[in-house]
Amino acid sequence: MDARDEILKLKEERNAIILSHNYQLPEVQDVADFLGDSFGLSKKASESDADVIVFCGVKFMAETAAILAPKKTVLMPDIQAGCPLANMITVEKLKQLQAQHPGAPTVTYVNTNADVKAESDYCCTSANALKVVEAVDADEIIFVPDKYLGHYIAGKTDKKLIIWNGYCPTHVKITAEDIRRQKKAHPKAEVMVHPECTPDVIELSDYVFSTGGMCRHPKESKAPDFIVGTEVGILHRLAKENPGKKFYPASELAVCPNMKKTTLDKVLLSLKEMKHEVRVPKEISARAKKSIERMLELV
Ligand code: SF4
Repeated sequence: MDARDEILKLKEERNAIILSHNYQLPEVQDVADFLGDSFGLSKKASESDADVIVFCGVKFMAETAAILAPKKTVLMPDIQAGCPLANMITVEKLKQLQAQHPGAPTVTYVNTNADVKAESDYCCTSANALKVVEAVDADEIIFVPDKYLGHYIAGKTDKKLIIWNGYCPTHVKITAEDIRRQKKAHPKAEVMVHPECTPDVIELSDYVFSTGGMCRHPKESKAPDFIVGTEVGILHRLAKENPGKKFYPASELAVCPNMKKTTLDKVLLSLKEMKHEVRVPKEISARAKKSIERMLELV
């Protein structure tokens, strides 16, 4: 029996589901029950009847699933898969920022650790960040941790954003020169980029989408080709779901090493040995959940 078959068999025995982020390795995506972005997958975790969730992504995502599905066992095949962007803001640093701007509510991107969410007023995703910022009842808002998402949103609202200096080391590898080169090579292609990209890259794009938006748009568009400005793992899904259309990475260098830590063998081991369980302390989980619920009330 190969790893894939063993995974499928063990999944039944454990009453488990496998959730995979759009940036995971192709073979991991192919064994998953659901593919999606971090928040979408966490919602799947909470809605599912499964007892065990194998979360193929990075730590903050598995934590979010554990927060939304506290009665389920959430496993990460590789517990070392963290997110450098999430780690750029800590509770201590956030509290300092809040002390400098008393009265300004904090809107925190879902790409943060649970303890930071617990200190925040509202959570947001890249898909709903603008809506959340617009709906918050304040003119001045602290926005953490991604400065490029923050700048993108600030350009679309009259509100004043106090933006943390974080960034995704993978998305900043995509340069304006990459976009120009790819546009020249594929003149009919539409350019979709993620809002974690730098402003000069965003400037050259046709669309700025969350990964969810990137997966939806090609199905609705008449364009034959797409240049994709995000982590390259998403190209596997895009090609699979859109036969006949072509997808080109804006940059082959946009590879998130943490997203590639989860392999099929680790998924198998995770189900075999029921590891590594991700738990969020109750008190942090309850407060982090509130920031997520407040987001859902707004949008
Ligand atoms: Fe974090 Fe960027 Fe990797 Fe996503 S792609 S997990 S934001 S480092």
